Amino acid sequence: MAQQEDLLKNIISHAKEYGFVFQSSEIYDGLSAVYDYAQNGAELKKNIRDYWWKAMVQMHDNIVGIDSAIFMHPTVWKASGHVDAFNDPMIDNKDSKKRYRADVLVEDHIAKIEAKIAKEITKASKRFGDSFDEQQFRETNPRVLANLEKIEGIKKRLYPAMDENDMEAIKLLIEDLGIACPVSGSRNWTEVRQFNLMFSTQMGSTAEGASEIFLRPETAQGIFVNYLNVQKTGRMKIPFGIAQTGKAFRNEIVARQFIFRMREFEQMEMQFFVRPGEEMKWYEYWKEERMNWHKSLGIPAEKYRFHDHDKLAHYANAAADIEFEFPMGFKELEGIHSRTDFDLSAHEEFSGKKLRYHDPELNKSYVPYVVETSIGLDRMFLAVLTFAYTEEMLEDGSNRVVLKLPPILSPYKVAVFPLLKKAGLPEKAHEILDGLKSDYMCFYEEKDSIGKRYRRHDALGTPYCVTVDHQTLEDNTVTIRERDSMKQERVKIEEVSGIIAARLKA
Ligand code: ATP
Repeated sequence: MAQQEDLLKNIISHAKEYGFVFQSSEIYDGLSAVYDYAQNGAELKKNIRDYWWKAMVQMHDNIVGIDSAIFMHPTVWKASGHVDAFNDPMIDNKDSKKRYRADVLVEDHIAKIEAKIAKEITKASKRFGDSFDEQQFRETNPRVLANLEKIEGIKKRLYPAMDENDMEAIKLLIEDLGIACPVSGSRNWTEVRQFNLMFSTQMGSTAEGASEIFLRPETAQGIFVNYLNVQKTGRMKIPFGIAQTGKAFRNEIVARQFIFRMREFEQMEMQFFVRPGEEMKWYEYWKEERMNWHKSLGIPAEKYRFHDHDKLAHYANAAADIEFEFPMGFKELEGIHSRTDFDLSAHEEFSGKKLRYHDPELNKSYVPYVVETSIGLDRMFLAVLTFAYTEEMLEDGSNRVVLKLPPILSPYKVAVFPLLKKAGLPEKAHEILDGLKSDYMCFYEEKDSIGKRYRRHDALGTPYCVTVDHQTLEDNTVTIRERDSMKQERVKIEEVSGIIAARLKA
């Protein structure tokens, strides 16, 4: 665990040192859970966004993309349920003065019991070797059974209490389980209170005439309210999807763990409109499709897992998360939700406008059902960094830190170095750079030794470095060095572009 905490710390300091992510307003000591993407981070983030957009919009002829405003009519958030139900229960520890999400305290407690079960299983599987049958062990071992029963008992109290907004019941559960504050170790808790996560502000020039509006807590509603406009103007036929990427804002009670949980973040969402009754088929389809997208980046499958929800949000009839193994363990990266006709029906009711689709094949009008895929761009950024960050001990005993980014996501695809700052080499290097830069993000660098320049680009995740030397001036060949293998090859200048292109397709 300590090693994993170190990994997160190392990623955070690497992200700062190499110009990926800075704390917002750092010169004023920062703003809690708000971050800025720096010169290299902005490129990486843009590449992740583009990779998503290409897979979702460009590769599907029945999905189109929009870009709706952050501000929306306040009734949107009444209809969506966010004004009444987008709450988290919070609780403070009176000794440490730390604030927690009450349900997360209980879920962490459950995770501890699950860890005990996992430990029993590992112990037993070592003892029994090949003949170990995990299923049977889970069903018969008395200690495992007792712990599973405990978990069930806790869930049976937590979920109904959450559904019914019964804050007293949650408080009682925390007391009965003897949960202590991880910081102070005390059980001296305040009452549990509901806390709405939406940020609000005023629109209008005078205080009296102003109306309260919200910063959107999800991008999805911008898609729902535009559903009919897009369907009509795009002549879309069901099933079809609308995608968008953009900022969302949530006043998270506990915002920690770097860019994993922020108060201002970016989502990449797609709402897929289907015939009522066909939603489960599409839900399964999008679960698989989205997992394939993650794997297509070359990140190993074992870093991902599905987590099917026991407790469904007010709008869903099925929901699963794609979890990623972050340095803090497996956590939600993306959600796939079958949202039924909840949103469109609610907007029909609140706006008084029909949001129906006339299905020519069925010769029938209906409110479409929706399957949503929703991924946090910042979380994906952290997932990619977690996968890519590698500390290596080289044969000569030295260390290097390399970001083994999927090349398609790398901020720079190639760095071009003149071996020396003289003898016509910088001019030749610039000529090569000019030939590449309309196709690829390139970096030119002439400071420091070649070895140092290579290391710097390893740390930025640049897949190739091209070095221009005296021989280049004679025969138009350069040395191209590959990031992961550190292999160097002498190639013709005109081959460089093809080598990069091949790697980006792989
Ligand atoms: P969590 O349970 O972690 O709070 P959620 O279930 O509320 O997340 P959704 O409402 O399903 O999240 O949002 C979809 C995606 O948006 C999440 O899978 C996550 O990647 C991202 N996301 C949500 N909240 C945040 C946040 N505060 N900071 C960064 N990304 C976020």
